[in-house]
Amino acid sequence: MLRDPRRSSTSMKAADEAIRTAAWAALLVPLALGSPGSALRAQSTGDQAAIEREADPSIRPGDDFFSYANGAWLKATVIPAGKERWNARTEISEVTRQQITHLLDDAGVAPAGSLARKVADFRAAWLNEAAIEAGGIAPLKPLLDSIDRVRDKASLTRFLGRRLAADVDPLNWGVYQSARLLGLSVEPSLHGEKTYVAFLLQGGLGLPDREPYVSTEPGMQALRAKYQRYIRRLLAQAGYDRAERRAAAVMTLETDLARSQATKEASAHDQNADSVWTRDDFARRAPGMDWSVFFTEAGLDRQESFVVWQPVAATGVAAEIGSAPLEAWKDYLRFHALDEYAEVLPRAYAEAARALHGASVTGTPDDTPSQRALAATEAAMSGPIGRLYAERYFPAEQKARVQAIGANVIAALRRRVEAVTWMSPDTKRVALAKLSTLYVGIGYPERWEDYADLTVDPKDAVGNLRRVADRNYRHALARLGQQVDLTEWWMAPQTVGAVLVFQQNALTFSAALLQAPKYDPAASDASNYGAIGAIIGHEASHFIDPLGAEYEADGRRRRWWTPADSAGFQEEADGLARQFSGYHPFPDLGVDGKLTLSENIADLGGLAAAFDAYRHSLGARASDTAYVRRQDREFFLGFARSWRSRISESALRTQLTGNDHAPEMYRIATVRNLDAWYDAFDARPGDRLYLAPAARVRIW
Ligand SMILES: [Zn+2]
Repeated sequence: MLRDPRRSSTSMKAADEAIRTAAWAALLVPLALGSPGSALRAQSTGDQAAIEREADPSIRPGDDFFSYANGAWLKATVIPAGKERWNARTEISEVTRQQITHLLDDAGVAPAGSLARKVADFRAAWLNEAAIEAGGIAPLKPLLDSIDRVRDKASLTRFLGRRLAADVDPLNWGVYQSARLLGLSVEPSLHGEKTYVAFLLQGGLGLPDREPYVSTEPGMQALRAKYQRYIRRLLAQAGYDRAERRAAAVMTLETDLARSQATKEASAHDQNADSVWTRDDFARRAPGMDWSVFFTEAGLDRQESFVVWQPVAATGVAAEIGSAPLEAWKDYLRFHALDEYAEVLPRAYAEAARALHGASVTGTPDDTPSQRALAATEAAMSGPIGRLYAERYFPAEQKARVQAIGANVIAALRRRVEAVTWMSPDTKRVALAKLSTLYVGIGYPERWEDYADLTVDPKDAVGNLRRVADRNYRHALARLGQQVDLTEWWMAPQTVGAVLVFQQNALTFSAALLQAPKYDPAASDASNYGAIGAIIGHEASHFIDPLGAEYEADGRRRRWWTPADSAGFQEEADGLARQFSGYHPFPDLGVDGKLTLSENIADLGGLAAAFDAYRHSLGARASDTAYVRRQDREFFLGFARSWRSRISESALRTQLTGNDHAPEMYRIATVRNLDAWYDAFDARPGDRLYLAPAARVRIW
C-alpha cells in the first residue's frame, strides 16, 4: 500500500483552517478562482476599479460589509451538489487541481530524462495495465528472494535495516506511523539544535494503528478478521502454500507488535521529541535485536543518538524480533512486500488492497484508474511536480511582488509591536527579534531539490515506487550532520496553504494559495494588501501571540511571555471576545467569542498591519485625498473578497460550535475596528456594524 503522508496526516484540520506544525501551526488559507491572468501590478485608473463593480450597491456597507463587497459573487455562486460549502479556498483548490492535470497532460511530450518527463513516465507506468498484468509479481521477485535468503535473526536484522524508510514526519505533518517496521525522519527538533536530528518512529502495521488489533469492539474484530483473510489471499495468490496458517502466524506477530505500540493520542505529543536515545540506550532499553547491525545496514552507523518518538514501540519491536519464530517474520515480510506494492501489481492484488484499505490507499474508493494514477503521481512525485507547477503558474515577478508586500506588512507589524503598552520590554525585544528574523517563503522554496539521481521507467511501476522511496531515504541520510536550513519548505508549492514552522521561525505560502482572490496578479496593490497582505500579517502575528509564545526566536521550545504579558493581552482581548459573541446567525446559536478569540485577534492584527503597510506604500500620492479614498476602498474590498464564502446552514452550525475560526462573514466584519474603514465607506451611527470610536478594538 502506498501511503501518502499528506493524506494520512492527522494534523490537517478542517478545510479553511490551519495545517499544524510543531505543536501547532500552519494556517491554511482559502483561495478563490478568478482571473488566472498574469498581468503585473495592474493599477486602478480613474475609472471604477473592477473590484468596486463586484459590490452590491443595494446593501449598505456599514450594515453588512461581507455581502456588500461580495455581492456579485454571492449572486452568481451556488454550493455544488454534495458539498457543504463553497468559498475562496475551495475555488482555488479546484483551479489548482485542473492546473496540475494540465501540467501532467503536457509533460508526456517533454524530452526524455527531463523532470517533466519523469513525472509523466511515473503516471504512464501506473496506468500501463498491460505491462502490470503481464509482469505478474515478477517485479517483486528480487525483494521476495532476499526475504527467502533470511536464515537467522542476524540476517533478519540486516534485512530490516536495509528496509528502513523515510516516510514519517512527526513535527511538521504529524505522520507518526511508518509503512515499514520502523520509519526515519531527519528534521529540525524543538530545542534550537543547529543541525538536523534523526527521529525513529514506529510502524509495520497493515491496519491504521494499534486500536483495531487490540479492541474488543465488534466492528474492530470484524476488521481484524477481514484483514487476516486479506493476508491469506495475497500470500495464496503469490503462490505460497498453507496460506491460512501463514496468515494466522502473521496476524499473531503483527498483533504483538501493535500491542507494544504507542496509541495515536500518545504519538501526537510534541514532547516526544524529548526522548533522546544514545546507541547504548538501544542495547539497554530495547534488547532482542542487534541494533548496531540494524543501524549499519540502514546507513546510520555514525549516528550517535536518535529521538525515539515512541520508546515503547522500539522496545516492543526488538523483543518481537528476538522472540517470534523466524518463519513468521519471513511470512510477515512477504505479505507486507505484496501489500506495499499491491496497487501496482496485477488487478487481483490491487482490487484486494482497495477493498481492505479503502480510502487509505491512493485516491478514494470511487476513483477511476486515471484519477488514482494522478493521485499516486501527485503523492510520489510531489517534489518534481512542485517545481514544474511553480515555473508554469507562479512566475518570479509574482514572487517578488508578494515578497515586497510581505516585507512591508511585517515591518508595519513591528511598528505596531513597538507601540503596544501591554507587553513588557523584555518580551517585546523577543517579539521584535522574532519578526526581524522570520523567514517568509513565498510561492516556492529558495532552492529546488535535485532529482537527477531518480530514474523513472514508464514500464516499471513497482520499480518507480521503490526508486522514489530509496531516493527519499538517501536524501534524508544526506541531511544528517548538516546545518538546519531555516528556509526549508515542508509543503509543496501545489498544496493550497500556508504553513507556520515555529522551530524554524519560518512561514511559507504556497504558489497554489497565491491565486485570486487570495492574491490576484491582475488586481491593484491596494486590494492585494487587503487580501494576501492581511493573511501574511495574520500568520506572522501568530509567531508573537500566545501560539508563538511557546517558541523562542531560535526555534527552541520555551515560553518567553511572562504571566503579566498574558494578563495584559487578555485584558485587551476581552473587548474583541465580547464583540464576536454579539454575532447571532441563529436565534439559538451564535459565534463563541472565546473559542474564536485567538484567530480573531490575528485577523485584526493582520488587517491593521496590512493597512499600515499599504498606506506606507502610497508614498507621495498619500496627499491626494480622492486617490487615497479610492485605494482605501479597494484595500477593504480586497480583504472581504479574499474570504468570500457560501456555507450550508448545517455546516455553519457545526462551525459555530467547534471551530476556532469564526465564519467568514464575521471575520470580515472586523473592518469595523479600523477607523479608515468608516471614512472609506461612509459608515455612520445607526449602521449595524457601526462602533463608537471608543468601542473599536486594537490589540496589536
Ligand atoms: Zn490563525
